[in-house]
Amino acid sequence: MPKMPITQIDFGGEKYTVKSVDNLSVDGTTLSGHIKHGQHTIELDIQECIGQQTCTLMHECIHYMLMAHGYADRIVPDCKEGLIDTIAIGMITLIKRNPNLIGLIQEQV
Ligand SMILES: [Zn+2]
Repeated sequence: MPKMPITQIDFGGEKYTVKSVDNLSVDGTTLSGHIKHGQHTIELDIQECIGQQTCTLMHECIHYMLMAHGYADRIVPDCKEGLIDTIAIGMITLIKRNPNLIGLIQEQV
């Protein structure tokens, strides 16, 4: 199974380790990804292809952003995962289709 080539995410002050896990589950629930804020770790299920792991990694990064800025518990739980997926997929589409934007961010921001 493909192991995620990224092993660390730098959120700008806090760094999280990215770990590949076989058959990831939390409290008996099978997951494709999971973020552990206390341990600064993002776990990804190695059973998924790299493309799906990348989408899941972005999803977990959005979880971090919401937590870090105090929004994690302010979003209605029924909407939270869908909202995070929407933002994650939107970010991936933006990055993939606009490499000049990413270059500009890296150079100017
Ligand atoms: Zn989630």
